[in-house]
Amino acid sequence: MTTETPATGTTTSPDTTSAATTAGGDAATTTTLVTGGNKGLGRETARRLLEAGHTVWIGARDEARGRATADELGARFVQLDVTDDASVAAAAETIAAAGGLDVLVNNAGITGSHSAPDQLTGADALEVLDTNVASVVRTTTAFLPLLRRSSAPTIVNVTSGLGSFTAVHDADRIESTVVAPLYTASKAAVTMLTVQYAKALPEIRVNAADPGYTATDLNGNSGHQTVTEGTDAVVELATRGGQGPTGTFIDRSGVAPF
Ligand code: NAP
Repeated sequence: MTTETPATGTTTSPDTTSAATTAGGDAATTTTLVTGGNKGLGRETARRLLEAGHTVWIGARDEARGRATADELGARFVQLDVTDDASVAAAAETIAAAGGLDVLVNNAGITGSHSAPDQLTGADALEVLDTNVASVVRTTTAFLPLLRRSSAPTIVNVTSGLGSFTAVHDADRIESTVVAPLYTASKAAVTMLTVQYAKALPEIRVNAADPGYTATDLNGNSGHQTVTEGTDAVVELATRGGQGPTGTFIDRSGVAPF
């Protein structure tokens, strides 16, 4: 079992005035997109960033659920299925037309198949890699032109300690007790994508966050942390105003091991 054992159109929300900052990391002028923002850690990230003064777009594949969350929180809604090139491109157009983007939080994710390792299929692998890894490539490519127009461009990739080679080899860490080949491999790839994009895009702060084992639908709400605790590292990275290191991996205690 894993510690995280998983569990079109656009528009709305309150105001539609534009937003992306052109003047350097002021929270009041920062516009942020959270993918998979309709529930769990994504929803809490959106709530906390709104509280910090950001204009927040909730990206969700399901319009009704995404719009409901956005309305509850006072965020905007954009339809966004991270496995669908057209959906990602349309979301980027919508957000560009509304004023742009400063912070991209790649949060959407799945655990994928729960089959025993000797039963896993190629299709199982492609499903989880598409949602967790190819999605980061899709959104990064689509939103890069917007981020490059920001004065405080930031990408936060939500990865996991389960994708850390150090953590899964440390007998004192819960990650070492987990066998989940596809999910862990996908998160290792997300962390490496973060390092590679940080090298390739020095004008953007690109960092990875491990939420820690948090009670959400992803793990049948078995995690020991609250969603507020689980979003500490993500919120930290999303509120640095384009400052600080790039290519790092943190959890709520600080620097995390690759
Ligand atoms: P969650 O409650 O299951 O939420 C996952 C979110 O991702 C949902 O909003 C879901 O939308 C969305 N999503 C899935 N596939 C999508 C797609 N194709 N397009 C757009 N959105 C999609 O899980 P969570 O725990 O909050 O997970 C958030 C992130 O944290 C994930 O990347 C996860 O791997 C990571 N993480 C979680 C933990 C933990 O212990 N919970 C620990 C480390 C890392 P639907 O509602 O439409 O399914």
